[in-house]
Amino acid sequence: MTSNHRTQQAHVTLDRERCRGCLLCLDICPNDLFVRDHQPNQAGALPAAMRYEEYCINCMRCVTICPDQAFNVPEHPAFNLGGYVFGLSLRWHRLTTPTSPEEQRP
Ligand code: SF4
Ligand code: SF4
Repeated sequence: MTSNHRTQQAHVTLDRERCRGCLLCLDICPNDLFVRDHQPNQAGALPAAMRYEEYCINCMRCVTICPDQAFNVPEHPAFNLGGYVFGLSLRWHRLTTPTSPEEQRP
């Protein structure tokens, strides 16, 4: 088993080449940051994609559920206040406006 990579970034990031496309992370993010990527990675899987990653609040739910350790974890995870505020805004936006075809879930 591999382990998650540690980075100097302030938030969790996703390595699409380590993702095998199980999509378990899609419904687990409190800020709704994941969508399905329709471009296959080098292994031929359709991976998850992270949008607005700067708004990740480092809750680690995606990191915990991922069976393929596809996430990079910050060396010093910090609470991301901007992400929290934006998360509330994004939730409200998604509840009140139709999603585009690219953002529709499988
Ligand atoms: S849980 Fe991991 S392997 Fe599954 S889609 Fe998300 S990033 Fe990819
Ligand atoms: S750590 Fe939490 S907020 Fe950040 S992408 Fe994963 S599930 Fe979403």
